[in-house]
Amino acid sequence: MSFFSKKTGKSPSHGQKIPPAGAWGHYNKKQGAKPQSADTEAHKEVLISVEELVLSYEGRAVIEGLSFNIEAGDYLCVIGENGSGKSTLMNALLGIIKPTAGRIRYHHLARNQIGVLPQQTPVQNDFPATVREVVTAGCLARANKGPFLAKDSKQIAFTNMEKLGITALEGRPFRELSGGQRQRVLIARALCAADKMLVLDEPVTGLDPATTADIYTLFRDMNSSGMTVVSVTHDVKSALKYSNKILRINKDSVFFGTVEEYAALPEALRYLTEEPEATESNVLYGEGGFRYNGGDDQ
Ligand code: ADP
Repeated sequence: MSFFSKKTGKSPSHGQKIPPAGAWGHYNKKQGAKPQSADTEAHKEVLISVEELVLSYEGRAVIEGLSFNIEAGDYLCVIGENGSGKSTLMNALLGIIKPTAGRIRYHHLARNQIGVLPQQTPVQNDFPATVREVVTAGCLARANKGPFLAKDSKQIAFTNMEKLGITALEGRPFRELSGGQRQRVLIARALCAADKMLVLDEPVTGLDPATTADIYTLFRDMNSSGMTVVSVTHDVKSALKYSNKILRINKDSVFFGTVEEYAALPEALRYLTEEPEATESNVLYGEGGFRYNGGDDQ
């Protein structure tokens, strides 16, 4: 487990709740949280190591001195207040944003082996293509890797549509689908692009509770079959239920560790109550405030 104060680089002692001595692990602004295997898990293959990473916009640091590892088979949830840098970090992992300092290293993993499930947008949802075309488009990333035949694209698209249970929808226009069906199509597309790691950005936003549970089950099954999952989410309650690691970024401190270690922190208590039901999302807004989100909110 790692915990460090971004502002002071020291023990989070100013206005923050402090856990029992020895519980924080290593924290230091300069060195950041040292990458380490989760204390309770056997050593696994590291796929991405983030070392003392600094990410900035126009000279203003959003992420400072951040270090953590993503290991094969992890289901890592990235949580934290709005504006704390979660999306910026994801863009850096995907190579879209370059580090100001520090580095991101890929081991046994090419960047184009990472599939992305972006947040659904109204423009994207109005896309006039069929399900088959949207899914097959995911194969373009593979095609860029070397000789690749159209029939391979077709086969990979078909396999992934079957996996996601959407083969019957293949001729339907994407924009006519329900939110849950669209999400399945986009997951199939992401799997066409990459088969080692999936990066999810708020994957259940706008979905009703039953569909949310369905999509989470899907991610859990994919993770159990060996897919490494990294998900940015406001849904802390579900993050605690489905993930094995938590990276919590706030403006003044960062936590990285196992889900059990996060659950033991005072700040996690509010998400561990039984009500509301686990299929319905607690959505964290701003500085620690949260509200109940009982269904479609977009
Ligand atoms: P989160 O995903 O945690 O809500 P973001 O990574 O989107 O946070 O943003 C982190 C900070 O960086 C915010 O203060 C945001 O306003 C700023 N930011 C995000 N994108 C840009 C950009 N393209 N140019 C300048 N500032 C940005």
